[in-house]
Amino acid sequence: MLDYQAPQDLLTDRVILITGAGDGIGKACALSCAAHGATVILIGRTPSKLEAVYDEIEASGFPQPALCPLNLETALEKDYVDLADQLFDTFGKLDGLVHNAALLGPRTLLDNVKAEAWLQLMQVNVNAPFLLSKSMMPLLRAAPDASVVCVSSSVGRKGRAYWGPYAVSKFALEGMMQVFADEQDGTSAIRFNSLNPGATRTSMRAAAYPGEAPEKNPEPAQIMPAFLYLLGPDSKAVNGQALDAQ
Ligand code: NAP
Repeated sequence: MLDYQAPQDLLTDRVILITGAGDGIGKACALSCAAHGATVILIGRTPSKLEAVYDEIEASGFPQPALCPLNLETALEKDYVDLADQLFDTFGKLDGLVHNAALLGPRTLLDNVKAEAWLQLMQVNVNAPFLLSKSMMPLLRAAPDASVVCVSSSVGRKGRAYWGPYAVSKFALEGMMQVFADEQDGTSAIRFNSLNPGATRTSMRAAAYPGEAPEKNPEPAQIMPAFLYLLGPDSKAVNGQALDAQ
């Protein structure tokens, strides 16, 4: 999908929410969506990082974004419902939702994983995407062709030793995507797909592969064609698919 050529106005008039928008792939996604005309809603846990992305978008003259600090580890269902209410009042619809934020967590034998670390990771990587999807459904239904992108991983499609709760959480995300996709098939214009970014130069990649030369992998900006394809109208007919960005 790296050869997808997005027209400059691909996402004009679209409202797109991205979690983990302050760093790595989520930041690149926010900048790229804004550059293609979208109003982006920046969700993340570190306000200073979100503010930097907000400023970069504004300075570039792209549509004014919305900034919503939210810690997905501690957010309760009411926080997601309140967010949906605010977005409904401001925008009236949501055209795109990117479940990007995630924790890498402990990489060790599964039987060595502490219960606390397991639960923390499942809260961010699985429970938060579910609660966010659920609360945003009325807004997604109000858009002409909404797209939900679940950012997955190769270890969410084939289990691998020592990838711990991270791998299990990505399987759960893939499962959630499939169930939502099947439920919406033929009943709404909302599509749900998963996207495996592949090895990408971010702090999560560096934490997972400390011995690897970072230059070996593409920058987040280089894998954006796949995100743009899934968030724009060219992927209207694509639903329930597990795709690879590279
Ligand atoms: P990253 O650089 O570590 O970025 C992760 C983002 O998630 C950060 O913005 C982080 O916020 C946010 N986040 C973490 N916990 C959060 C919480 N409790 N509440 C709100 N936001 C939270 O990682 P990345 O490499 O860009 O990863 C993005 C996605 O791609 C993830 O789903 C990852 O599993 C997937 N992925 C990445 C690769 C790769 O090679 N990089 C490969 C396969 C899949 P802070 O910046 O504030 O910490």
